[in-house]
Amino acid sequence: MIKIKIEFLGGAHEVGKSGFLLDGRVALDYGVKIGMEEPEYLPSLKIDAVLLSHAHLDHCGSIPVLFNKGHPKTIATPETLDLSKMLLMDSYKVSLKQGYKPPYRKQNIKKAFARFDPIEYNEQRNVAGFNVEYFDAGHIPGSSGILLNKEGKRIFYTGDINLSSTYLLNGATLPKKTDVLIMESTYGNREHPPREEEEKRFVDAVNEGLEKGEKILLPCFAVGRSQEVLLMLNKYRYKKIAIDGMIKQSSEIILYYKKNIRNYQNLKSILDRVTWVRGTRARDEAIDTKNIFVTTSGMMTGGPIVYLLEKMRNDNIRIIFTGYLVEDTPGRRLFETGIFSNDEDEFPIDAPMFRFDFSAHAGQSELLDIVRRLNPKKVFVVHGDDTDKFADLISDEFKDVDVEAPEIGDVATI
Ligand SMILES: [Zn+2]
Ligand SMILES: [Zn+2]
Repeated sequence: MIKIKIEFLGGAHEVGKSGFLLDGRVALDYGVKIGMEEPEYLPSLKIDAVLLSHAHLDHCGSIPVLFNKGHPKTIATPETLDLSKMLLMDSYKVSLKQGYKPPYRKQNIKKAFARFDPIEYNEQRNVAGFNVEYFDAGHIPGSSGILLNKEGKRIFYTGDINLSSTYLLNGATLPKKTDVLIMESTYGNREHPPREEEEKRFVDAVNEGLEKGEKILLPCFAVGRSQEVLLMLNKYRYKKIAIDGMIKQSSEIILYYKKNIRNYQNLKSILDRVTWVRGTRARDEAIDTKNIFVTTSGMMTGGPIVYLLEKMRNDNIRIIFTGYLVEDTPGRRLFETGIFSNDEDEFPIDAPMFRFDFSAHAGQSELLDIVRRLNPKKVFVVHGDDTDKFADLISDEFKDVDVEAPEIGDVATI
């Protein structure tokens, strides 16, 4: 049977800069690793195509680097195309502001988008000898799992995946049996709390704050999470809500591509109802008149949330995080110490703070369910903090599956 070479350029034993190269010609994702230090990019290579799973920068952030040497095609859903353009433009700007020059010229972003080739879910395409099909991954709007078929050998790459439906998205769909599975494992070693309980705790926290006359600050990721939070706020009929930062642009994109949104009418209705804050004067006005602020960035690394904190730090506020807080980010530090600090500023905040888990990633048992349903001979565990541990668990559960947690730089033949 045919042999396929796979190189693990990044996203192995780490979350960040996912990039897996097939036969030296086709990359599955090409991301950047962004932490508090200088961003880590993937190398500049000459390849035929990138199959992009979704718009998050840890999956698309290094695509412009490829245009230093070549001009590969990027295949992705139309949603991913628009959302990644927004995120790449923003990240270029933010990098320069933080004093890190990306290893490519801004022009490369434009070149990359000129070479984007949109594909819909369940549509097929031939790319450099592979037959390629995209499946809804349920993670963020436009996110995809990717099935590759070369002469009957079937490889499925999960991208970032969520099997459970949320208010915003349907849960992932999966192909039939595959030979090889390349799977994310962000929550490989943990389960999520039951969604209903988590939602109840969230609503209790919001209600308690409003009853005490506090203003509620919800720092949120722009793509996916903020729309999910807005759908929850809509369900419980909250009023006097402001949205701010990149959430506005991403919401416009997400509303435009409505067909894969689970509760499109509800999303439209809440987005029609809330105040879209544009500019500093409007922001100050919102501080005086609104009660709930849904704004970027989720980890407080930038965006209007920093302005709101500075302005409102002596007011009655309550801070509710709804996403993952990476270590050593201003959000994580604030949550743990009660002190906000970034490059420019440092001040204490005396406010009740909460953190809820509305993750867009499959938990441990769902990930095992993916292995069960696809029944592969070989599994590569990627995109996780402790991929070895999760690989061991798969080996224990599925005795005849060959499981590997590759290192960066590893090359395998499948
Ligand atoms: Zn993601
Ligand atoms: Zn990711």
